[in-house]
Amino acid sequence: MFSRLLIANRGEIALRVIRACRELGIVSVAVYSQADRDAYYLTQADERICIGPGEASESYLNIPRIISAAEISNVEAIHPGYGFLAENDHFADICAECKIQFVGPRPQSMRLLGDKVKARALAQQAKVAIIPGSQGVVPDVESATICAQEIGYPVIIKAAAGGGGRGMRIVHNEINLRSAFHNAQSEAASAFKNSAVFLEKYLDQARHVEVQVAADNVGNIIHLWERDCSLQRRHQKVIEESPSPVISNNLRAELCKAAIRLIKEAEYVNLGTVEFLLDKDDKYYFSEVNTRIQVEHPITEMVTGIDMVKWQLRIAAGENINKRQKDIHQQGVAIECRINAEDPENDFKPSPGRIERFVAPGGLGVRLDSHAYAGYEISPHYDSLIGKLIVHKKTRAEAIACMKRALREFEISPIKTTIPLCLEILSHPQYVKGNVDTGFIERTW
Ligand code: ADP
Repeated sequence: MFSRLLIANRGEIALRVIRACRELGIVSVAVYSQADRDAYYLTQADERICIGPGEASESYLNIPRIISAAEISNVEAIHPGYGFLAENDHFADICAECKIQFVGPRPQSMRLLGDKVKARALAQQAKVAIIPGSQGVVPDVESATICAQEIGYPVIIKAAAGGGGRGMRIVHNEINLRSAFHNAQSEAASAFKNSAVFLEKYLDQARHVEVQVAADNVGNIIHLWERDCSLQRRHQKVIEESPSPVISNNLRAELCKAAIRLIKEAEYVNLGTVEFLLDKDDKYYFSEVNTRIQVEHPITEMVTGIDMVKWQLRIAAGENINKRQKDIHQQGVAIECRINAEDPENDFKPSPGRIERFVAPGGLGVRLDSHAYAGYEISPHYDSLIGKLIVHKKTRAEAIACMKRALREFEISPIKTTIPLCLEILSHPQYVKGNVDTGFIERTW
């Protein structure tokens, strides 16, 4: 195992990795921007290095500064967390050149799976169904028109290099396709430095179900079952749960098998998530692979009892997976609510500022992964996630009751948060029935 590791991230995920390091006896080195000078995760790390001003491009996204920090602190490995450089294959290449172990898959797997068009082709090779759509990148509006006629409206234009729910446009007819296509291309070019886009059939009222997988360096591949992430706003997850409340055991087994086939085909190593969309008839289609730890990993940890960050570190250090598939079970039900500093009453406008009062919920079955505290100043520079509230109970009904109780206990003021929205969702009869899809929040609120 590594003796020293640098965390190229901030906030709750930096704290999550530091906690795993502590338990494994690894010396953790945190990096921070000037805007994060007073961050709590820095107090928990063994060492800390300032890497620049608040703008992410000058700090957490700045490869030379992160590599310099790693060299100065003499670490053997870098954990990238999620977001920032976590899916940047160029960064992983540089880590390899500098003989620093990147905690994640090989750069070539990141290149292959980070490109949604290549990932679709790989899924086809692995005999995993893909959403009907274009054969590869769509070069111009004429080809887009022909393709859309073939697959039928509505269609969705997606950036090949897209991520974080950005760079997608739903189009209902040919007139809109023309302007949407050009906008999508230029948006992709500026957001992802790659203007390539492709087309998929837009699946109305789809469900998002993803399978967590882990693979080691000697070819052992196992899955840690699924998470249902259908509750989204603007294609971004809001509430996740495991197991999915609606899929049959047969479908669950099929999804897990399909995920493993794809990961095998990609010769993938370390943790990854294979995402699927389910249509109204429960037909499943491959959507994409995320080559990093996911924000929602705690719900998988709660139902399987496996510490996924420790697994990530062990696999990166060359250890083999020491568990067999038949020994990994889903026990009980876990739900996660993402708590963002946003105002749900005001079109989810970011609500940065100082937290004056912070009272964390507790009790049996409650877990809070958060870097926030009373006196913490939420910076406008970064995403608005201030914490993840997770509950784990024997049944779904108990988990919902526990989450509602914990959300009511949770006090964060005077900033606005998404706690009231989460409470409304959990009380909605459709949610209680498990009868929700990716458009539910936008249709209902
Ligand atoms: P990103 O990498 O930006 O997260 P994904 O491809 O994972 O993008 O898609 C995010 C979400 O966008 C999905 O969970 C789903 O809600 C929606 N979405 C993407 N593709 C489709 C599609 N073809 N039909 C319907 N919804 C889609």
